[in-house]
Parts: sequence; C-alpha cells; structure tokens
Amino acid sequence: MSHAGRIIGIPGLEIERVVRRKGIEVWAKPVHRPPCKHCQGNGLRIKATHLRTVKHTRQGNQVMTLHLRVPKYHCQECKRYFRHAFTGIRPRFRASEAYRLEVFEAHDGGVTQRKLSRTHQISPATVERWYQHHIKQKRSEGDRRYCPRVLGIDEHFFTRKKGYATTLTDLKNHKVFDVQLGRSELSLRRYLKALEGRERVQVVVMDLSETYRSIARRYFPNAAIVADRFHVVRLINQHFLSVWKQHDPEGRKNRGLISLMRRHQWNLRDEQHANLMQYLAEYPVLQALYVAKQRLIRFVLLKTLTRKKASIKLPVFMKLLDELAESPLRALANTLRSWLKPIVAMWRFSKSNGITEGFHNKMEMMTRRAYGFRNFENYRMRVLAHCGWDGVINRV
Ligand SMILES: [Zn+2]
Repeated sequence: MSHAGRIIGIPGLEIERVVRRKGIEVWAKPVHRPPCKHCQGNGLRIKATHLRTVKHTRQGNQVMTLHLRVPKYHCQECKRYFRHAFTGIRPRFRASEAYRLEVFEAHDGGVTQRKLSRTHQISPATVERWYQHHIKQKRSEGDRRYCPRVLGIDEHFFTRKKGYATTLTDLKNHKVFDVQLGRSELSLRRYLKALEGRERVQVVVMDLSETYRSIARRYFPNAAIVADRFHVVRLINQHFLSVWKQHDPEGRKNRGLISLMRRHQWNLRDEQHANLMQYLAEYPVLQALYVAKQRLIRFVLLKTLTRKKASIKLPVFMKLLDELAESPLRALANTLRSWLKPIVAMWRFSKSNGITEGFHNKMEMMTRRAYGFRNFENYRMRVLAHCGWDGVINRV
C-alpha cells in the first residue's frame, strides 16, 4: 500500500491534490493497472477515464470526499472492456464501504438519523437505506432458521395505523425470534404455515389469550401451552382493583393505597402492612378478597415444582378457585379455571415472558430513536438486528 493509500485506507491510490474547504477534497487515481478481470491477461489499454465522486470517512469534523479518476480498460487479449475497481468502494455507490459502515455503527449505537444526516451530509432516508442494506446483508446468511424449542408469544403495539404486532421470542436463548404484523390467526396464518420446525417446539408461553391459545394448538401441535406468570399476576391485580372500585371508589383513587394493594404482601414493610390492614378493616368483604388474592398470587408464582409436588398443590388451588367462583371475583375464577392446565404447567417450569416484556421496552426506545416506523419490514429488520438472530444463529 502506498503511503497515501495507508492514510486514506484504500490501497493502490496515488493522490494528486488535496484541497481543504468546507470539507477535505482529495483527487486521486489508481497507481497500477490491474490484470484483466475476465482473462487475467496483462495487455490492458486505457480507453477513457471518467471522474467519480465518493464520500469517504470523516477526519475530525470534516467529511472527506474522494474524486477518483476511473480508467476504462480494454483488454488486448480477450477484447473486453471493464472499469477499474477500487477496494472498499462498490460500483455505482456514492460512498465507500468504510463510510457506510461508519454511519451504520453510529446509528446502531443510537445516533439519530437527523444528527447523522447533518454530520455525514446525507439524507435521513439514506441513513435508513444504508442501515437496512447492512442488516440485510448480515441477515442473508442466517435466514433459514428453525423455530426455537421454547417459544414465547405476545403482542405489542406497532402504530396507530397498522395496529398491533406479534412477538415470537426464543425464551431459552433470550432472543427475539421474529416479529410479525397483526395478532389474529388470520393475519399470522401465512407466516405460521411457512415456519420451519414448528413440530419441534416443545413449549409455548403466552398470556391468557384465546387467540394465541388456538394458534398454539393449531400450529405448534407438539407443544405444551404454558401460562405466563407475568401476565397472570397482572390479570389477578386488574380484577382485584376493579372489585375494589365497586367497594370503595374513593379509596381506589388513592395512589398510595393502590401501590400497597398491588405489591406482593411479603414486599411490604411492617408499617405499610399495618396501614393496609387498618384500611381493609373497614371493608370486610374487600379484606377477605385481598387475602384470597395473596393466596392466589402465591400459587401463580410457584415454579420448578416436581410432578409430585404439583399434584399435591393442585387440589388446594382448585378449592381456592371454587371459593372465588362464589365471590365478586367470579369472572377471574372462571378465567383461571379455563386456563387450569397451562397454569399448572407453569408450576413445573421457570421461564416467563418477562424477557419478552424487556424486549418490548427496547423496541419502543428503538422506534423513538428512528422517529417512528411506517414500514413494518424496516422495523422488523431493526428489531432482529438489536434483539434477534445474531446470538440464535451462533448457537444453532
Ligand atoms: Zn482479457
């Protein structure tokens, strides 16, 4: 590599002139004539030369622009023509690979499109295009992936116009497996049908959603359906809070009380517990329901039980549900009864969709950084780049 080439990072260049104005402008041409790209012959003639301008890295806070003299060669042996190819600059691209990578990495690390469009003198749309190009390239190697054995399925909000999306998580490897637009069987049907390795999925973890349950039965025929602890706790709290509202609408608006009611009993300090008990003493029915709720939550949080232990717990749990079915929490009791098997399966198991929830937060941050997405495929690519397949592929 020539001295100049070493500085610029592109081998085989001879620098003719450097001008510093607003940016750094470098005029350069190839040092050597290459062998013919078709026949490897050496008898090349230059037929014409044209000038090509490419953006190439930033030095300090200035963008370096290369003005390259590009010879068009004619091979004396095979009589064919071709243009000089520069290492690190692809044909027809207006920026070098190094420059594009710089933009990708900055954007990937959190620099906004708007900021990059200022520092790198490209449009925000170009930032997005380069970003997509880069991750698609990374992606192409690992596109044929098999379903994870332990799958989490959950919905999240995409846009007001396009609605909700479904997240499929590889719970074993802590990765997003995929995101798909829609949350109904109809909108996911095509995708699910084409999914490879559906029959080897062993466990599907989900919230208590009928749609996802019927999807799991249909498309993952060998998987056990396991309720998601995280969602079940939330559901119990929701039902409890709405019953509370019926008993004491005023108390239900008290933020301090709400926080005490929501928390697990064992997380309360002594004086907090005393305050709560004092309040509940005025509402005997509510108090009884609160006690039942705490018992319920203890059941829901059981995990990694042996089959034997689970079978001992089961009748006690069912009795509690029977009691609740006669109480103002009957709707909750009915839901839990209809999900009995997935809930009991949860006791034998430790994974939960809490991981997925974490990914949803990450996706939301990502969306904000990009000032929102309109194109779902762009969004999907980015989710997979951030939370997805890299690790999965390495492990498979
Ligand atoms: Zn040739």
